[in-house]
Amino acid sequence: MSWMQWFREKSGLDTKAARYAFADDPVLGFTSARMQADRWVNSTCGYCSVGCGMQLGVRAGKVVSVRGNPDHPVNRGKLCPKGLAEHYAIEAEGRAQYPLLRTSGGTLARVSWDDALTTMVQQFRAVQHKHGADSVGVISTGQLVTEEFYTLGKLVQLGLASRNYDGNTTLCMSTAVAGYKRSFGSDGPPGAYADLEVADLILLIGANVAENHPILCTRIEANRDRTLIVVDPRVTKTAMMADIYLPVRPRSDLALINAMLRVIIDEDLYDARYVEAHTTGFDDLRASLENCTLDHASQITGLDPGLIVRIARLYAEARAPFIGWTMGVNHSTKGTETVNAINNLALITGNVGRAGASPFSITGQCNAMGTREAGFASSLPGYRNFESPDDRNDLARLWNIDPARIPSSRGLAYPDIVEAAVSGKIRALWIIGTNPLVSFPNIDVLKHGFNNLDFLVVQDGFHPTPTTELADLVLPAAIWGEKDGTYTNSERRASKVNAAVKPPGEARSDFDIFLDVAGKLGCREELFPQWQTTADAFDEWRRASSGRLCDYSGMTWEAIEQTGGIQWPFPADTTHDPSSVRRLYGDGQFQTADRRARLIPTQWAPFPEPPNADFPFVLNTGRTVEHWHTRTKTGAISILQQLSPRAWLEMNPADAQRLSLKPHDRVDVVSARGRVSKVELRVTEVIAAGQVFLPFHFAETNANQLTQSAYDPISREPNFKQCAVRVEKSPTVS
Ligand code: SF4
Repeated sequence: MSWMQWFREKSGLDTKAARYAFADDPVLGFTSARMQADRWVNSTCGYCSVGCGMQLGVRAGKVVSVRGNPDHPVNRGKLCPKGLAEHYAIEAEGRAQYPLLRTSGGTLARVSWDDALTTMVQQFRAVQHKHGADSVGVISTGQLVTEEFYTLGKLVQLGLASRNYDGNTTLCMSTAVAGYKRSFGSDGPPGAYADLEVADLILLIGANVAENHPILCTRIEANRDRTLIVVDPRVTKTAMMADIYLPVRPRSDLALINAMLRVIIDEDLYDARYVEAHTTGFDDLRASLENCTLDHASQITGLDPGLIVRIARLYAEARAPFIGWTMGVNHSTKGTETVNAINNLALITGNVGRAGASPFSITGQCNAMGTREAGFASSLPGYRNFESPDDRNDLARLWNIDPARIPSSRGLAYPDIVEAAVSGKIRALWIIGTNPLVSFPNIDVLKHGFNNLDFLVVQDGFHPTPTTELADLVLPAAIWGEKDGTYTNSERRASKVNAAVKPPGEARSDFDIFLDVAGKLGCREELFPQWQTTADAFDEWRRASSGRLCDYSGMTWEAIEQTGGIQWPFPADTTHDPSSVRRLYGDGQFQTADRRARLIPTQWAPFPEPPNADFPFVLNTGRTVEHWHTRTKTGAISILQQLSPRAWLEMNPADAQRLSLKPHDRVDVVSARGRVSKVELRVTEVIAAGQVFLPFHFAETNANQLTQSAYDPISREPNFKQCAVRVEKSPTVS
């Protein structure tokens, strides 16, 4: 089915109206005089981590159209529905335009930028004076350009001198980061998108790419010689593409992978030469698998033992097997261990960093990778370690500061910042480009924490949002299409982001806001000498990354523009063509002290809140292709909102019959923590009996009223994917 057919079917629009919605798109081939652009500005999509290159059509100072960049190496001219409608976000209703300060009467009133930032800094300093430097917390976002994120890290950790700084990426990618660090000695996905086209086996675990990273599906579809295996409790659109679909029970993937490891070792299908030369821990790993029998794995996963053996053999005997995963793995208390088990599978078969063969985390947000590299949250910039004196000295030299000012351990992760707000240790908070009032698990805990704060600053491109409505100070920020810098996608490719228009009203780029806050703190000249634009930040970031795994030192903005994006590592002395595909660890040399990868024993355990008599269903939460995260942007775009106007609950027909529920009934979903009311019921075999699915995008029916405060003990990522609920028919209102 073409995008246009899909779009017409979903939207109910006739062909003419659908053409109008996607006017000027070279893929679909339509034009409309009203939407014709005077000029086109190259940029990169600001939604997901695929990192599609696009062109923004500008006419009379407005972005009137968007089209895929046919020369961009990631998407080759294609865009998904969100990307095709992205320009509507710029002119959408509800853009934040002026700084707003809460008055003594409780309302938000317009103030000047100078008053806003003076008040913010006074409040932060007053709190720090009374409660210590770490009593101010900052939570940022993977929506910033890398240059902004690097600037913000320096500002918070050195200027504001608080260690309690993290990003919303901890809600989606910190598990992959922690897993890579433990196995390979550093974060960094080893593979590339090109692997999807040359792999002979693609194993997707908890990764519904058809819905969440749609343009990647074109790579999978282009590869006619592969076997696609999809592991997912739900029959997702991606599962429907599979050659072999494994309908595992929720959170049983770790048991499956460990059973596969056991089969591969028992049948001598592993690469003994690679294990000997490039890994440590094989004997411990083998011993840890003693109880991972096929029968045990079959009981946990619900899969036939023979099928597990078949999948293990297929993986081990493949020429170039690729493993991709996303939130189905990451969103779990066992997430990091599952990533380590995936890495174990790749390592014992010698399938890391070869063409087609890698374990590969598919990132969430457009610049989640950039935030991971530029750091200052779970690591220092350039994947340096807080704990390493050498790494701290290295940065202190670059920044010309006393090394003692650089923290020697990381501060609180996002969930712990929230818990510190609840306990009163964090007294002021600065939230940038994220909407935790919808996205954080067990939302009432977060509300309680926010109510405890002395001062809450929310910097966002939109107002009101559920989070800006709680703020003491709202700072209006530019969004995608209004600022310059780079995003780095899941395959470590830095692509250029360009401003096509100015932000509305008095909104300013996040970068300009950060520099002005630095000015108010009195550290601008010291930390950001003569910086005027994000180009200055990029220049320093290149130097900060030099010699590191994520080396950008050979990149320039101009070269990135010309090639459509450059993958790191790209050191200054490289002889590689900037457009060449680059992978990590192909030489078997890892980022550990002895250059060997670690084989890490892992242990399956049930998820933290199994169903019970009061709450008999397992709730799975997730996404839909039309919306982005908490719908701050996509909820304001009419066409996407019309395509997916409200949440729904998926339930298996057997369960619906047992509860006497019919399709389109309105139901309440109830957990031990809260209730979501009047959700439309979809009765479908996409979901197995005993499970239900609710998308998390919708504030009005917020899935995070139900989810629990359970976190991966290593990465601190929330267990969004499973909790126990019951489903009741909603009371009818007379
Ligand atoms: Fe944007 Fe992702 Fe869609 Fe590409 S696949 S257009 S990056 S949302």
